[in-house]
Amino acid sequence: MHDTMHDVINPANEQVIATVPSTSAEQTDEAIARARAALASWRAVAPGDRADLLRQLSSIVRERNEELAQLEVANAGHTIGNARWEANNVANVLNYYAGAPERLFGRQIPVPGGIDVTFKEPVGVVGIIVPWNFPMPIAGWGFAPALAAGCTVVMKPAELTPLTAIRLGELALEAGIPEGVFTVLPGKGSVVGQRLVDHPDVRKIVFTGSTSIGEKVMADCAKHIKAVTLELGGKSANIVFADADLERAAATAPYGVFDNAGQDCCARSRILVQRSAYDRFMELLEPAVQGVRVGDPSAESTEMGPLISAGQLQTVRSFVPDDASIAFQGGCPDGPGYWFPPTVLTGTESDRAYREEIFGPVVVVVPFEDEADAIRMANDSEYGLSGSIWTRDIGRGLRVARGVETGNLSVNSHSSVRYWTPFGGFKKSGLGRELGPDALDAFTETKNVFINTED
Ligand code: NAD
Repeated sequence: MHDTMHDVINPANEQVIATVPSTSAEQTDEAIARARAALASWRAVAPGDRADLLRQLSSIVRERNEELAQLEVANAGHTIGNARWEANNVANVLNYYAGAPERLFGRQIPVPGGIDVTFKEPVGVVGIIVPWNFPMPIAGWGFAPALAAGCTVVMKPAELTPLTAIRLGELALEAGIPEGVFTVLPGKGSVVGQRLVDHPDVRKIVFTGSTSIGEKVMADCAKHIKAVTLELGGKSANIVFADADLERAAATAPYGVFDNAGQDCCARSRILVQRSAYDRFMELLEPAVQGVRVGDPSAESTEMGPLISAGQLQTVRSFVPDDASIAFQGGCPDGPGYWFPPTVLTGTESDRAYREEIFGPVVVVVPFEDEADAIRMANDSEYGLSGSIWTRDIGRGLRVARGVETGNLSVNSHSSVRYWTPFGGFKKSGLGRELGPDALDAFTETKNVFINTED
């Protein structure tokens, strides 16, 4: 039996849309035992057949794109455009890693006296712990390469946003992925998440969430010498040089931070502008911010929806007190729902809004003097996840990209996550990398075998 049930709320109107069981610690142990029992047979599935199963799941997710997207609009308040992209991202990531089982190469290493070969063995049962801000993509970045590597997976979605994850678990069975290979357990972090971390039979944790919980997860994994990938918070800089295409930089800056209502670990929540271009940039930024269409996330033209919860709204408000130096704000609906308008603050490097992750639609703009100053300011953060650099000077773009201590930078764009390329953070933004061509390394152990040919 489940301990309790809990309500899932639509953040755009505060209505209860579903009631979901909270898995208990005992039920988590049972699911881990099933995942462990399923390891041998999943590993024994021929590489081409495992690839086919992942491709089949990819096709089903693509066919169900609209259903999954609508579920995310209702559960997470994501705009319908974003939600369709997110469901499509799961399909793309599954399809990409469907190519991996047949290419999971070891090496043959020259040694005296025999033949030496390496194998990439699955680490075993993988626990994936997902936050509420991008429920579908973050799940897929974990489970697709883990399954491709021959691991079995127990995945815990965030309490606020379990619906698409539960559906993905059902679709995996429909695709023919055997029972026990991919299990989704809705429930509390302190119960299900903690049990995944503490259970000795879970050999790897993929955790995405806050830096504070990530620190604890890593410390608890250490007790079992358990491998861990951490994707944590961010306070990324959008660096705009005076020689940039200022019109484009200003027109795109709101989308680099306010996408998903700023609840994005890669949000460029600090805009650093070269002093000589500061006034012009602000002039251009104001209409761009006021043009962001905030409202009903199910409407096709909406660009920004609500925050995820009343708690998150309260946190975001705390960064914009009555005496905050607001440069300008966009609009947002009144009434039910957790709404906050796109907000631009001016300030200094010591402001709380400049230093802490807000995870809401609030950005601070601060001027810098020169290239060295820009790099110093961008790096003056405990985080290091993402960032953008706007300049027409390609040499400068590369110098600054090499100088900024973050895992994912884009020059003259705000792209962060592309499934073909590695994603992850420096410093307190995380540990390890997801996605890209090397993602299976995080789900495999290298085994070395020497075969004596001398006797
Ligand atoms: P959170 O840390 O509160 O929760 C994340 C997940 O961990 C949830 O599923 C939660 O139930 C679970 N959890 C809570 N306590 C646990 C415990 N003791 N043991 C194991 N699991 C536990 O984070 P959140 O508020 O859901 O997400 C927002 C944060 O996530 C932000 O800080 C954001 O920057 C970060 N984030 C980072 C990335 C990235 O890729 N770097 C991506 C998305 C979100």
